[in-house]
Amino acid sequence: MIYVDSHVHTRHSSDGKDPICDIVAEAQRKGLHYLATTDHLDYDLKFGHNRSPIPWKHIDVDAYRAEWAQNAAKLAEQRADLEFRFGIEAGFSPEKQVQEKYAELFARVPFDVVINSVHFVNGWDVYFPNAFFFKTRRRMYGDYLDLVLQSLDAPYEYDVVAHIGYVTRNAPYKKKTLEYSDFPDKFDAILHGIIERGKALEVNTHTTLFPTEEILRKYYEYGGRKLSFGSDSHHAELCKDYEKTCVMLKEIGFTHFSVFSAHKEELIEI
Ligand SMILES: [Zn+2]
Ligand SMILES: [Zn+2]
Repeated sequence: MIYVDSHVHTRHSSDGKDPICDIVAEAQRKGLHYLATTDHLDYDLKFGHNRSPIPWKHIDVDAYRAEWAQNAAKLAEQRADLEFRFGIEAGFSPEKQVQEKYAELFARVPFDVVINSVHFVNGWDVYFPNAFFFKTRRRMYGDYLDLVLQSLDAPYEYDVVAHIGYVTRNAPYKKKTLEYSDFPDKFDAILHGIIERGKALEVNTHTTLFPTEEILRKYYEYGGRKLSFGSDSHHAELCKDYEKTCVMLKEIGFTHFSVFSAHKEELIEI
């Protein structure tokens, strides 16, 4: 089995802990073929109108890049087998000024892989309970899916559509799960949109599986074949649930993961 992980946080994320050398050592111990570090870049919070109840620390992209490059140089010296790539997780906002900031940065800094993520709904971080105050399940989940759909047209280069279903993670509703039958039209638009744009749908194993197996099956049925595997590790959990996730994906019919170097796709057998 070939192990790849395209969504990993380091100490350069507000909620990450590990120095990059520790993550690389862990990847080598586990025999990974491909590893991309993808720290949080929250321009949606920094330059937009999104609000969070706690002050997330913003990344210093140049410091992150320097530490990544040091580790990449060390791996090159060792002639290590690991394909080690430089990525970022960009928090989507529909606000134009935020999107322009991303476009500016991506023109300056050559990321190998950009993950496009929706973390805020109606201006609030859905990690925290206050985002859900006075909002019905239908309203929150519907608004979330509308944003995911909008995020597909982000006017900057991205490769991966992250963790669809993330809004449910800390949702307070009695029926927490988000099913295809809740919003078939919205899901269809998103899944077809990903396929038409040639992007990769992320399979995220950080907590529960995002998206759910039901949505992955729909994606396959519609002709979607590009998948990106992400443990979304914040602390030494590379390739979490990799084996069992691969078994499920193969059973659906998927044969490959997509990994990216300078936004160029390489296919890795599942
Ligand atoms: Zn995320
Ligand atoms: Zn993440």
